[in-house]
Amino acid sequence: MLNFTVGPVMSSDSILSIGSEQVPYFRTAEFSSIMLENENYILEYAKAPQGSRAIFMTCSSTGSMEATIMNFFSSKDKVLIINGGSFGQRFVDLCEIHEIPYVSLHLEHGQKLTRENLYQYDNQHFTGLLVNVDETSTAVLYDTTLLGEFCQKNNLFFVCDCVSSFLADPFHMAECGADVMITGSQKALACPPGISIIVLAPNALKRLEGRKVKTLYFDINDALKNQERGQTPFTPAVGILLQINERLREIKQSGGIDAEIARVASQAADFRKKIKPLPLELLSESPANGVTAVLPIKENANEIFLTLKDEYNIWVCPNGGDMKNTIFRVGHIGALTHQDNTTLVNALKDLQKRGIL
Ligand SMILES: *Cc1c(COP(=O)(O)O)cnc(C)c1O
Repeated sequence: MLNFTVGPVMSSDSILSIGSEQVPYFRTAEFSSIMLENENYILEYAKAPQGSRAIFMTCSSTGSMEATIMNFFSSKDKVLIINGGSFGQRFVDLCEIHEIPYVSLHLEHGQKLTRENLYQYDNQHFTGLLVNVDETSTAVLYDTTLLGEFCQKNNLFFVCDCVSSFLADPFHMAECGADVMITGSQKALACPPGISIIVLAPNALKRLEGRKVKTLYFDINDALKNQERGQTPFTPAVGILLQINERLREIKQSGGIDAEIARVASQAADFRKKIKPLPLELLSESPANGVTAVLPIKENANEIFLTLKDEYNIWVCPNGGDMKNTIFRVGHIGALTHQDNTTLVNALKDLQKRGIL
């Protein structure tokens, strides 16, 4: 199988071999030290400000999006949601369920966020801003510097869902002033799904002080207290946390975070160059490194996805809903090479010969 979806993605052999081992008991000094090391690596790679913390939640990243909404916002808030696709809509759905007042800044699929779009909401008594830094459903990357300045000017609590952009696109948590950053194990971390990570800047830690939240499992204060000694309140996905540790160390050994981002950027650039002769258009005005959203001119995206999967054993990422036939996506995260891009492009050329593309 050659997997170009945006999660779960291909893992390296060393990550795969950890997955084949017995899972150890975790209330031990050994496991605690791995967890503390994981926290330090995550803070380093997120370029988080001094005094930040990171916690590891055993849930998919939507669980951490929900935990963030529940722990940081209430009916007294008013949040602005950058909504350019399915993941922006997920924040809208969460605010509906938890009765957080919100305004949805709607963007067309593929449209980038401009200063003009954003500053229509200047000085309107918002208290927070929620954004999916890479809106993975349309592969659009939003400008965190622009957003950070807006949040600072309006004194907004700034939440960045970096689930698919962490380790793939440049992100400087301290510089853009994000208060919370969320990511997950199965995107650019290239591990199996099951762990999601929340990074909290000092301002976020302060906002949590004395806060009572009606949840047992998603209580961030409880998770923070446990992580002080490298532990979690409940049994975590131990095996995946060990795989994450290996992956974080490997990034360090191969040159650190900037080298890793450059590797993903070059994987994306190579693919975009190789498909130029094909009857495919690119959707996004401001494409993220982690994924390319492609429009086949015959509007048969789902047929292309199915044919590649069933006849070539190559998986691209289908879209749902009203994007089902217009868009498919090709991921550049995980253990992929330029040679893998060539394999995919050759399969696409074959589809073209057969009249499918
Ligand atoms: C993948 C993703 C999520 C969360 O997905 P889960 O299926 O809950 O892990 C959230 N936001 C973005 C931007 C994503 O790409």
